[in-house]
Amino acid sequence: MEKKNLDWNNLGFSYVQTDKRYVSNYKDGKWDDGALIDDPNIVMNECAGVLQYAQTVFEGMKAYTTEDGHIVTFRPDLNASRMVDSAKRLEMPVFPEERFVDAVVQTVKANAAYVPPYGSGATLYIRPYMFGINPVIGVKPADEYQFRVFTTPVGPYFKGGVKPITICVSDFDRAAPHGTGHIKAGLNYAMSLHAIVTAHANGFDENMYLDSATRTKVEETGGANFLFVTKDNKIVTPHSSTILPSITRRSLMYVAEHYLGLEVEERDVYFDEVKDFAECGLCGTAAVISPVGKVVNHGKEICFPSGMEKMGPTIQKLYDTLTGIQMGHIEAPEGWIKVIE
Ligand SMILES: *Cc1c(COP(=O)(O)O)cnc(C)c1O
Repeated sequence: MEKKNLDWNNLGFSYVQTDKRYVSNYKDGKWDDGALIDDPNIVMNECAGVLQYAQTVFEGMKAYTTEDGHIVTFRPDLNASRMVDSAKRLEMPVFPEERFVDAVVQTVKANAAYVPPYGSGATLYIRPYMFGINPVIGVKPADEYQFRVFTTPVGPYFKGGVKPITICVSDFDRAAPHGTGHIKAGLNYAMSLHAIVTAHANGFDENMYLDSATRTKVEETGGANFLFVTKDNKIVTPHSSTILPSITRRSLMYVAEHYLGLEVEERDVYFDEVKDFAECGLCGTAAVISPVGKVVNHGKEICFPSGMEKMGPTIQKLYDTLTGIQMGHIEAPEGWIKVIE
């Protein structure tokens, strides 16, 4: 297969149309067989459920080339099962998990020419999603849905090397108790846009959201989970029913315990203890871990000992181990790496 002639080393994070996308339609209570198609555009009724009442959920994952030349993806079974949870919470039909993984494999294979070469730091971002497509005007779930997967090549998250970021405590809330914070729904992102634009306007890279009930506990950012390292080298991550369960964060917790022999704790993390941690990072598919150098709470700064120049030592070890597993330099736990071709 001949690769496309793209400037792999200078890709950003924006949509680049690729050749094929997967589509399956749900009608009369069942999913059709699904197929790869060429048309990137969707024609739908002006009153489609997704347009009126935001009935849509999504996933985000990456395919990449390992050192030995295989195209692989990371733990797609967990994306499949998370999308089941998301769909159920928004009263959408479940797209079967094995079909989800198959759709991802088919779409990546069909766009293999866009999977960046090993060593470029770039990846093929995969976006599975589902939405209500038939007309809905009275408030209720749609009857018909479309499940799609498209891919787009993206550059490394940190151009020119990883740099710690500065985040601020947000005055806005991301998720309500008993709401939808734990599912991957577009609606959670729609309401975060004003908060992130505000944070950027104030010179911050990201928001730290606190729990909206008491505003005393750390939750997550708009699209990544927190991971902290204590001064005695324990890994701590916030536990809350309103946090989206990051696959990257769950994988890092496993790596910390089983590869690095570190103690890990998933528990309430009070904002008041943040100043006592040695390191802080944000976990998600896009960056794996973004180190946080500074948290600013209404002008009061918390500066982690790891500083603003590089990742802290423990987060660096976690990052190196997980990316080593992903790239095939370190043996992966059973079932983590799905070889596509
Ligand atoms: C997708 C997402 C994450 C990161 O999850 P990964 O599975 O690691 O990519 C974290 N927080 C939110 C709100 C998300 O939507």
